[in-house]
Amino acid sequence: MTDQATSDPDARPLDRLRAGNARFLDRIAESDDPDAAAAALAAADPYAIVLGCSDSRVPPELVFDESVGRLFVIRVASNVAGNEEIGTIEYAVARWGCPLVVVLGHTQCGGVAAAMERLPAGAEPTPDATGSTHLGMLLGSIRANLGWTGHETVNDPWLSAVRMNVRRTIEQILLWSVPLRSRVGEGRLAIAGAVYAVETGEVEFLEVGRS
Ligand SMILES: [Zn+2]
Repeated sequence: MTDQATSDPDARPLDRLRAGNARFLDRIAESDDPDAAAAALAAADPYAIVLGCSDSRVPPELVFDESVGRLFVIRVASNVAGNEEIGTIEYAVARWGCPLVVVLGHTQCGGVAAAMERLPAGAEPTPDATGSTHLGMLLGSIRANLGWTGHETVNDPWLSAVRMNVRRTIEQILLWSVPLRSRVGEGRLAIAGAVYAVETGEVEFLEVGRS
């Protein structure tokens, strides 16, 4: 490949990331107190844990206008809670005593659409020789949350499925994690469900979950 391949920065993603980090470092160096700015970056004091979707439009720190160090964020397609995600939540609760977990779904969630078999043609991965993919396994987890049967009986089945997926994720966290369930029972931890609207930027909080 030659340098004249393209002038579009998006076509050279690693270069774009390097340049972005250079700008970030410049801003720290140019701040009134660079040492204090660097120390602030290194300080971890999260008051909430967010289990959100990996969708590029839903970065929790931006959506909640929060600074570095204040949110402990786990992102996985369609905000499902498997062993790794629940273990990560347990770690943050034990380490920092966070009193709140937010399971954050969003409108237009592609993972939920895939579980509903609504992805556009060509967006599904090609299965390997065994006939399965890791994405297929992930979709199985989302489908298990939805109990999806292919029947659409509500006005906005996609949004309804997003909300259901959030609520089921909360139920699973409470079902599978003894320490988290105990903390909720003692009133020391709340688990909230929320849906972010990519169309407007607004977060709708569903409920504080208990089993
Ligand atoms: Zn999503």
